[in-house]
Amino acid sequence: MAVVVMKFGGTSVADLDRIRNVARHVKREHDAGNSVAVVVSAMAGTTNQLVTWVNDASPRYDRREYDAVVATGEQITAGLLAIVLQDMGVNARSWQGWQIPVETNAAHGSARISHIDGEALRARVETGEVAVVTGFQGVEPAQGRIATLGRGGSDTSAVAIAVAVNADVCDIYTDVDGVYTTDPRIVPKARRLPKISYEEMLEMASLGSKVLQTRSVELAMVHRVRLRVLSSFTPPEEMAAVNLEGLANIGTIVTDEDEIVEQQVVSGIAYAKDEAKVTIVNVADKPGVAARIFGPLADASINVDMIVQNVASDGKRTDMTFTVQAAELSRTLDVLKAAEADIGEFEVRSSDDVAKISVIGIGMRSHAGVAAEMFKALAEKGINILAISTSEIKISVLIDAAYAELAVRTLHSMYGLDAA
Ligand code: ADP
Ligand code: ASP
Ligand code: MG
Repeated sequence: MAVVVMKFGGTSVADLDRIRNVARHVKREHDAGNSVAVVVSAMAGTTNQLVTWVNDASPRYDRREYDAVVATGEQITAGLLAIVLQDMGVNARSWQGWQIPVETNAAHGSARISHIDGEALRARVETGEVAVVTGFQGVEPAQGRIATLGRGGSDTSAVAIAVAVNADVCDIYTDVDGVYTTDPRIVPKARRLPKISYEEMLEMASLGSKVLQTRSVELAMVHRVRLRVLSSFTPPEEMAAVNLEGLANIGTIVTDEDEIVEQQVVSGIAYAKDEAKVTIVNVADKPGVAARIFGPLADASINVDMIVQNVASDGKRTDMTFTVQAAELSRTLDVLKAAEADIGEFEVRSSDDVAKISVIGIGMRSHAGVAAEMFKALAEKGINILAISTSEIKISVLIDAAYAELAVRTLHSMYGLDAA
């Protein structure tokens, strides 16, 4: 018999009827003789509401208290699911992060899991008791305070629990029946991918496809966790086909590259609207300037993504454009202002009306011309490219936010990803 971790996201536990539906999925695995640990998110909308209250209480909130507030959403669902399971005759018990314990570092609000001792949890689920664990939260052991893992963090909780109990599989149940070639809510012609490699999934997630949190994919890749994405809205009866051998015709399995037989050049398209563009105009073009701009940003833990530097036409002054998370824009401008004495005189322009569109595929390693096709297709739609960045398996472009959806749909068709 197998040890199974099942994770259910916010939409899947949005009300009591949906929690009962989730309980039926859990009972199915339990009745099949498997040992089950469940990881739950807060009910849809709850975390947003909690974050709003914190911000309204004070924009200069203490991050430890932010965590004390936002971690509560998951506590509600874990308790309710345990009650509903017990009502169905399934032996179940809820567990909060600190009770397991899920140990994290001290980066409150976006903490990383540092350690989980899974032995006691594994022993419990092997007795047939279902463990219902709160996602998104853990405890920072030095101060003994609750810490949360960043938005979407329940995916990471699930994979970490799977690693800790040495589970045979980690199933992420959400509101779509798998990973698609792009967000199916933007492109109705998007296709479900029966399999996707860890590397591609990692790029998709980090470039904006929020179906899985980036850290959950990282963790699954490092520990080679068998990770599947399924829909909680598929009726439990139809899920008998979901066994450890495969997925039949439902869901997506995230797996090693060499398990994927039919490889497309481009497997998927991601988009992110939460970036901001900063242009430093008329800065001196001489050695050390880039270091004096990006050094202070790094010291302030501001992540810079794309960087474009123009060649100075007169050999003296140039423009430099880069992107940061939109939420970090005002902090970025403050840091630049503070460093002005060091950088030398410059003007700064910024905008958060931009979107980053990325095409991803491990097939790009062995195919030339993918970028050229991308630029041509965007040009034909009159979409201007503001910045470009590439890696071995992806190309990203920054464009005006107003064209984001048009760009995604155009590229999706052009690379032959549209469903028949
Ligand atoms: P949950 O609450 O279950 O964690 P999320 O809202 O975090 O669910 O993630 C699921 C959503 O991810 C889907 O509803 C879909 O709109 C979005 N999404 C974005 N890109 C993709 C993709 N490539 N494939 C599937 N879903 C995607
Ligand atoms: N409830 C948290 C959030 O909304 C964590 C999660 O759902 O994964 O971000
Ligand atoms: Mg999510």
